[in-house]
Amino acid sequence: MPVEKTAIIIGAGIGGITTSIYLARQGYKVTVYEKNSFPGGRCSQLIRDGHRFDLGATIYLMPEVYKKIFESLGIKSEDIFNYTPLSTLYNIYFDDGTLIAFTSDKERLNSQLEKIEPGSSVKAEKVISEGYRNFKLAMDHLLSRNFYNLFQFVTFRNAEMLIRLKTHLRHTAYIRRFFKNEHIQKAFTFQNIYVGQNPYQAPALFSMLAAAELTEGSIFPEGGMFGVTQMLLTLARESGVRFVYNEPVIKILTEKHKVKGVVLHNGSTVKANVIVANADLPYVYRELLPERNISGRLDRKTYSCSAIVLHWALKKQYPQLSHHNVFLSSAYKENLKEIFRHQSLSNHPSFYVHSPVRSDVSAAPRARIPYRLLFLRAICP
Ligand SMILES: Cc1cc2nc3c(=O)[nH]c(=O)nc-3n(C[C@H](O)[C@H](O)[C@H](O)COP(=O)(O)OP(=O)(O)OC[C@H]3O[C@@H](n4cnc5c(N)ncnc54)[C@H](O)[C@@H]3O)c2cc1C
Repeated sequence: MPVEKTAIIIGAGIGGITTSIYLARQGYKVTVYEKNSFPGGRCSQLIRDGHRFDLGATIYLMPEVYKKIFESLGIKSEDIFNYTPLSTLYNIYFDDGTLIAFTSDKERLNSQLEKIEPGSSVKAEKVISEGYRNFKLAMDHLLSRNFYNLFQFVTFRNAEMLIRLKTHLRHTAYIRRFFKNEHIQKAFTFQNIYVGQNPYQAPALFSMLAAAELTEGSIFPEGGMFGVTQMLLTLARESGVRFVYNEPVIKILTEKHKVKGVVLHNGSTVKANVIVANADLPYVYRELLPERNISGRLDRKTYSCSAIVLHWALKKQYPQLSHHNVFLSSAYKENLKEIFRHQSLSNHPSFYVHSPVRSDVSAAPRARIPYRLLFLRAICP
């Protein structure tokens, strides 16, 4: 009789759910243990009096990556959820009243840039095409690969690629080579904040973030970003995955450097051939694994910043807002310094406003508008 292959996944975030589908389709009997009473982790949802808020992720970043994953699961993304294409990725507002609507519509973007700085549209095209080439290069050879030791990473080929990807240059310094206007410089660099980094410190490699958005465009999935979680959840259940909520894993059992099973909060032990920990890596090493050396090393690292998020339902409508809105204050550089150096919030902060009703009226009962305000601030680690 064939031996049953078993897998346990810790955490029903979007990563854990997706991994569960791959494993189930490879013949594993998969159980996902989630400490919360709901799925999704940082891509979950809050519904209050008919107002629907995405918790965590709101922007459908890098649609091609999603597409690749869906296709590897044998699904066409357009077949499984309805969505609204977002012609304006986001509006970027500045204190002096300047507005740049970042859009994958080249002509519209170019005409806005030309009005602010004549000649900047040609340079923007260069930044975008080079950034997108680097994005593809990094995705294919760097970000989608595991490096198990330093020797695998430090190769002549990788060194050449890291130079091509401009890891030796600061992002803002690189963009200043193209644009004189500070608003345009900020518009092409603030995306570092997506990954909790300061554009004045981060490498120019991150010019690929804006380039990927402007090249691939973006969508708003029906039901918000949680719509994607829900769709994957349905697929996982159809593939036979079992989800257990309100069940924190408190320990991963190992024997001779091999995983054997997990201990649950209720005291029971569950064995499995494969354990996938989808919770935060430092937490997994510190709290769940017996490996003290790695945990100590991870704890000494500097972590990216977090965010303060306010969920508001308003009576008043603000038609001037787009679906995604970024407000960059005149104290933008100081904001970043306060966050990254002093771990505090500025009196005049930069922030992001998500207004999903712009694309989806079902996000709120009539005449009430759900806004999500996200202040950028540091919580370290
Ligand atoms: C404020 C904010 C805004 C963001 N905006 C965007 C965006 O616009 N676009 C975008 O693409 N990304 C965005 N992100 C990032 C994105 O949300 C995350 O990268 C993604 O959701 C992470 O998914 P994950 O499955 O890897 O981890 P998580 O979502 O963190 O899932 C981990 C799960 O493990 C569970 N867990 C932890 N410990 C245990 C345990 N011991 N036992 C059982 N369960 C456990 C947790 O409860 C959680 O459900 C944002 C993140 C934040 C915080």
